[in-house]
Formats: sequence, structure tokens, C-alpha cells
Amino acid sequence: MKRVILLGSSGSIGQSACKVARELPERMKIVGLAVNGSVSVLLEQAREFGVKALAVYDGKAAADAERELATVSGTRLFKGAAGLVELVRETEADMVLVAIVGTAGLAPALAALESGKDLAVASKEILVMAGESVMKTAADRGRAILPVDSEHNAIFQCLRGAADREVRRLILTASGGPFRRTPREQLVNVSVEQALQHPTWNMGKKITIDSATLFNKGLEMIEARWLFNVEMARIDVIVHPQSIVHSMVEFVDHSVLAQLSHSDMCFPIQYAVTYPDRLPNRLGSLDFAKIAQLTFEAPDPARFPALTLARHAGTVGGTMPAVFNAANEVAVARFLARRGTFPQIWESVEKVMARHQSVASADLDAILKADAWARAACARLD
Ligand code: MG
Repeated sequence: MKRVILLGSSGSIGQSACKVARELPERMKIVGLAVNGSVSVLLEQAREFGVKALAVYDGKAAADAERELATVSGTRLFKGAAGLVELVRETEADMVLVAIVGTAGLAPALAALESGKDLAVASKEILVMAGESVMKTAADRGRAILPVDSEHNAIFQCLRGAADREVRRLILTASGGPFRRTPREQLVNVSVEQALQHPTWNMGKKITIDSATLFNKGLEMIEARWLFNVEMARIDVIVHPQSIVHSMVEFVDHSVLAQLSHSDMCFPIQYAVTYPDRLPNRLGSLDFAKIAQLTFEAPDPARFPALTLARHAGTVGGTMPAVFNAANEVAVARFLARRGTFPQIWESVEKVMARHQSVASADLDAILKADAWARAACARLD
């Protein structure tokens, strides 16, 4: 039985994690819940799972939650950014699943490891921004980091029992997004609505845009670099539109292992929670005769510069990945607000990265400073 604190419980990963807890009550018990502002979802989940430790990030929503909880005895409510860290530190648990959009998950993730809990990572920012210090903290404290992202979960499965020296390269698969076939000169006309139509996964807005630009895959390359201790030069991306092969590992003997399954986030969450055990679930068998074809194609760096930018950021290291991530967040928000074109997303990130002097072996302070600098620098491009 794993006692799990779930940060970001109202989002799509959070809802999937609740589904897993519902289906495996003997293996997963939710003992803490945190949301940004969705108080009604939070209270409903708290009632269903009997959770007594809650956190709300947004100030006004936290006040609403406090009023609602006034009549409920025995429930602790933590508030704001500091509240997420307190929830993690002060709640007895085995694992913290961080599924918060943006940088707010970083401090609670470190707090989880420092307070002796394993970390299940769904928020890419944690390893992209602070991969070096997060992995070091986990090693120092003897805690595990379990990937929930489908690609990293796939690689994690392929690497079971493998020694580092046996691994030649990691191959991340990408669906290619809705503009896989769109000519370069037409990308400037892409609307918000078109960009939000993802062919295979149903996710939040930010990550859906990131899938369309391939920034999501760029973030995943950097995440994989830290999670599996493989340098950027040995991390490749291949477009695989069916999203059945979730990623692959090539070994030194050129043998390749792939992980295949239906696209359902409940599966990687379940695997992370029940690891090292595999348990039956509702996913259903793959019908290969019906799938008939699994196809692969090289990503086009001219139309999708995000991969090149990510490789550069990950190779430079230090604070550059945090800048890559932060500038992209601001650029995506601008696109969603209809104040910029689709190609301006990567054009902005490239400009901000070009102006950044990366700080090597950066501590958390330096990383957060670079993050703030990149946001301001990207906003000024307006
Ligand atoms: Mg992914």
C-alpha cells in the first residue's frame, strides 16, 4: 500500500491518479491533495477518499476553501506556495505525485525528497529546471524518482535490469502534433483552436500547445537526460503518429526495446505507484491486426526548431534549460491570448536564450533567478 500526496489533483493527470486510486484501493491511498484554485473539485475528492490534509495555492480560492471547511473537523488546510511545501513535509506519506503546471512544483518536489518520500514526477519543469539538484537530493536521501510522463515511464520500463554501460541511446517518440504535415510557410496562420486539437492525447492547454510546437518533446529530452543520466547527444526523437510505442531504448549491441500500450495516462501512473509490481488493469490488449501499422518518421528541424533549441539548452546545461522552459511558458501564454503567431513561440524562445549567460552548476536560487529573468525578457519582446 502506497500513501500518496497528490499535487495538482484537479488537472488531467490528477484526475487520472484519482481513477487509479479508485481502481486499486488496496495499493494506493491518497493522503494529501493540492489544487491551484479548483476548490469544489478538491473538496469532492477529499470527501470521496477521506483525505484530511489539503492545500490550495491561489489566495482567494484558499479563503473560499477555508470557509467551506469551517464546519468539517479534523481537516488541515495549507495555503499558498508555502502551503504546498508544508503539506508535503507535514503529511505522513510514501510518495508525492507532482502534477502541477509550471514552476510551482519544484519546491514541493525537493521537500518530498528531503522529508524522506519518493517522488513521482508528472511536471516536466522539475527535472528540466533543476534536474541536477533534484537527482542529487534523491541519491543523497536514498529516495526513488518515478517518471509518470508516458515516454519516460516507457524508458523506465525498458531499462529494468539494465546497467548504465549497456545503454547506447534513448529514443523518445513524438506524435508529431496536428501540424506534422503542415508546410512551413503556413504555420504562421495556425489559430489557437487548430493548435489545441491534439491527434491522440487529451490534455491541458499548455501541454497541448507544447505538443504542437514539439516543445513538449524538447522538455522531455532534457527531463530524460537527468532522469536516466544519459547525455543529450544520446537522446533522439522520432515521430510516431500512432502513439502506441511510447519510447524505446537502444543498447550497445544495437538491440532495441520498446514499450507499447494504449494511450491512457492511468497506466504510467499505476506503474509508478505499484512499481516494481505489475498489476492487472482496464487498459485492454493491443489488437495488432487492427492497428495494422506502426510508422516512424524523422522530425523536421526546420519546421520544429524546438528540438534543436532543447538540445542546445540541455547541452549547455546550468540555467539554460530553465530559461528555455520559462521563455516558452510566456510565449505560449501570449499565443493563447492571441497576441502572437504560432512561429513566434519558438522565435521568442530563441531570442531569449541567445541573450542568456548560463550559470554553470546552478543552485535553486540561481535557477529561479534565471527563470524570472527569462519571463521578463520574453514579456519585453511584445
Ligand atoms: Mg509525454
